[in-house]
Amino acid sequence: MSRNPPLPLLSDSELVNILALSQNATAIYTSEDLIIQSANDAMLLFWNKGRDVIGEKLGEAVPELKDNPLLELLKNVWRNGIDYDAANIKTNIRVNGELQATYFDLNYKAITKPGGEVYCILHTARDVTDRVQKQEEVKALQQHTQNLNENLAGFNEELSATNEELAATNEELATTNEEYVVLNEEINATNEELHLINEELIKARNTLGLASDAAGLITWTAQLGTTDFIISGNGASLFEADKQRFTLASFLNRVADEHRDIVKNSINQSIKDKCRLDLEIQIKATEQLKLRWFKLNAIPYFDEDGLPSHLTGTMLDVTEQKEDDQRKSDFIAMVSHELKTPLTSLKAYVQMLAGRASKAGDRFSESALDKADAQVNKMTGLINGFLNISRLESGKINLDNQSFELEKLVKEIVEEGELTISSHRLIFNPTCKVTVTADRDKIGSVITNFISNAVKYSPNGTSITVECDIVSNTARVSVQDAGMGISQADIKKLFERYYRVKGKQTETISGFGIGLYLSAEIINRHGGKIWVESEADKGSIFYFSLPV
Ligand code: ADP
Repeated sequence: MSRNPPLPLLSDSELVNILALSQNATAIYTSEDLIIQSANDAMLLFWNKGRDVIGEKLGEAVPELKDNPLLELLKNVWRNGIDYDAANIKTNIRVNGELQATYFDLNYKAITKPGGEVYCILHTARDVTDRVQKQEEVKALQQHTQNLNENLAGFNEELSATNEELAATNEELATTNEEYVVLNEEINATNEELHLINEELIKARNTLGLASDAAGLITWTAQLGTTDFIISGNGASLFEADKQRFTLASFLNRVADEHRDIVKNSINQSIKDKCRLDLEIQIKATEQLKLRWFKLNAIPYFDEDGLPSHLTGTMLDVTEQKEDDQRKSDFIAMVSHELKTPLTSLKAYVQMLAGRASKAGDRFSESALDKADAQVNKMTGLINGFLNISRLESGKINLDNQSFELEKLVKEIVEEGELTISSHRLIFNPTCKVTVTADRDKIGSVITNFISNAVKYSPNGTSITVECDIVSNTARVSVQDAGMGISQADIKKLFERYYRVKGKQTETISGFGIGLYLSAEIINRHGGKIWVESEADKGSIFYFSLPV
């Protein structure tokens, strides 16, 4: 068998030279001073030194490492024989004259003899800058991703909060919608009702129109802002309001001179007191027509701020009625006047005959003639009443004012009444020691009228209380009875001329309805007040008061 020739082996220096070409930086050190035994190109490049550093102490050859902890680590490897590994060690090395951060994985390996004694340190370092950069990029990317994720989470939270809000808003919207539907239904229902009411209103207006036409009622409105005076219905043609524009002033021009101020004052008063206005005045419907009597009434209306906006009312031509009343009054006045003379002689004859009968001891004739005298007195009273009315209306009644003690007058009348009235009990409670200035006889006739009415309109045997006292700077007289009383509807008209309450209870009681009318005229002319408090079947209290 032939022997193969020995394989050619590389010499030690060849091996070192080849290893020196390795891209991994390699160096070998000996002794604790770390004398550089060998360093390949890669390590020299890393140190930025030339080959002349071989045989030098590492710390001196590469002074940049002097304070580097790696130097101490290397020394520890020599002392302890324990290897040292480290990854990603950052070192700044100069490349083309500029410092560049470079990362290495390094290994200090203690090479030992068989007995364990360290005889050199093999230092290898591998440039891992790319890897570290990649890792850092990955880290940055991870951080970025994490940031993104966190942002996304925040955004998600916001989104879900917004979603919740949206859901809540949706619910609210749904509720509001439902409410709208209900409201709409209500509005529709109200609209329908309004429609019906409107129809009723139109019907009522038509009926009112017909009634107004039939009654000859004129409706009018005075706008207080524009002062337009609108006359509608029948009145429009009568006043020729369709041909010209009427204002409150032009309407007032048509009112009789003596009534113009009364209308103005009454309008102001009605606005001030927020109450109804009722007047009887003379108006000329057109320049050509004569003055005619109109019953004029109105109610004031106010806007939301409480300011007067307009007056609306009616006018009714009452000329015929007025003329009728006048004719009636004239006739009554004439008859009363004509009756006065025969009645005076009748009274004289009756008294003469009564005197004779008394002398002759004819009791029957005497008593009959006394009764006849009382009837003549009653008749005289009535006739005087009628004459007073006619004097009053023609403005001929004059007040004969004098100062007198009211209490004395009331007392005199009550005492006189006690003598003549046997059917009722008269009670007098005087607490008014006061002097008034008035027409004594006429005030006396008012008190007499109150007492005689109390006698007429209350049952026999009951009491009539007359009082006289001072209330808020006025002297007040009252006459209270326990009679039939008066309803509210009648109270309103009680002081009107010829007004009498109609009914079973009053039909047998004689009277003409002029006593209270005259009383009211007398008290009003004294600047006083007259009124009644009463209820049907609960008795009445008639009052008058005079300024003190
Ligand atoms: P006359 O009594 O003559 O009818 P008056 O003017 O005095 O006239 O009275 C008017 C009406 O007032 C009376 O018809 C009567 O109905 C009513 N009246 C007056 N006084 C009373 C009274 N005290 N109680 C009830 N009713 C009365």
